[in-house]
Amino acid sequence: MSVFDCAAAHIRSISPYQPGKPISELAREMSLDEASIVKLASNENPLGMSASARAAALAALAEVPRYPDGNGFDLKQAVSRHHGIGADQIVLGNGSNDVLEMVARALLGPGRSAVYSRHAFAVYPLATLAAGATGIEVPARDFGCDLDAMRAAIRDDTRVVFIANPNNPTGTFVDADALERFIAAVPRDVLVVLDEAYSEYLPADKAYDSARWLERHPHLLVSRTFSKAYGLAGLRVGYGIGQPSVIDLLNRVRQPFNVTNVGLAAATAALADQGFVRASAAANRAGLRQLETFFDASGIEYIRSYANFIALRAGDAAGVNRRLLEQGVIVRPIAAYAMPEWLRVSIGLEPENARFIEALTKARS
Ligand SMILES: *Cc1c(COP(=O)(O)O)cnc(C)c1O
Repeated sequence: MSVFDCAAAHIRSISPYQPGKPISELAREMSLDEASIVKLASNENPLGMSASARAAALAALAEVPRYPDGNGFDLKQAVSRHHGIGADQIVLGNGSNDVLEMVARALLGPGRSAVYSRHAFAVYPLATLAAGATGIEVPARDFGCDLDAMRAAIRDDTRVVFIANPNNPTGTFVDADALERFIAAVPRDVLVVLDEAYSEYLPADKAYDSARWLERHPHLLVSRTFSKAYGLAGLRVGYGIGQPSVIDLLNRVRQPFNVTNVGLAAATAALADQGFVRASAAANRAGLRQLETFFDASGIEYIRSYANFIALRAGDAAGVNRRLLEQGVIVRPIAAYAMPEWLRVSIGLEPENARFIEALTKARS
């Protein structure tokens, strides 16, 4: 027997996460100049990061020989003020992915289950299966969460419900009122993980403040990230907010120094620059309109998106994707999300979106 064969069956059955193709990899494969490649595959911020976050990250390089503050005091103070909650209601993560993993480690395991929607973020099944728990995937409605079906799918052994709002890779959104009613209907011994990785992109008439729900719903944990609108994907910083007892639980399974000192400093500065976040959201809305206008004019089916990406039906998505790559344009095939005919494209700057439009037109003809 090999080491692989000796691993637990639930580990061997996991299909690894498929990230967006890195620019350097495509450049090697196709002998392309890196500067000529447009990557719209990982929902990164095309405006980069706030200048103050960059300055803070550079200054924090001096601290690299030392371990970071394992309690992330300064960042927690900033997050605490941002949401109007106590510092004891915050857990920091190496990306919000880390927070999702902590939830699975703390609450899931053999004989337990987690509920999530079909077409939901891939990390929910991954974290669930890695913990040896059972994943209950609920059929979607119009590619979005069917909240009634998700409520009905909760079993006695269910300990976690994962829900992303807006969802990735579909961009679908459930209204705040319906969402809060759903949370209220979930038994108090089941943690509802509300993943708000894209909430900064919501238009004003859809935005809601889930931090205000924590008081009424002690079984709620909200996760946020600095990877998307804040433009710090490479530094890996996210956080969860919830009741102190839930945070206490997550801290027990958290790696002691899970956020780097450079990440802590950059995130603290990034949070203070809400002007950059607003500019990012405005640029994103313009880019979404640019793509929607093209899709409408070309008869391409797409799912209305509330995030910084949009899913389109490409038919032979694998073939179209290959022809996009040949033209130096990287998007994300989402066959692994049970959407084999679809591609997800992140919203870029106006010229990047135009490059995508031009390449897609050629790839489909
Ligand atoms: C990108 C994304 C995250 C954030 O991941 P990080 O680990 O914070 O970079 C979380 N949830 C969803 C749904 C995402 O799309």
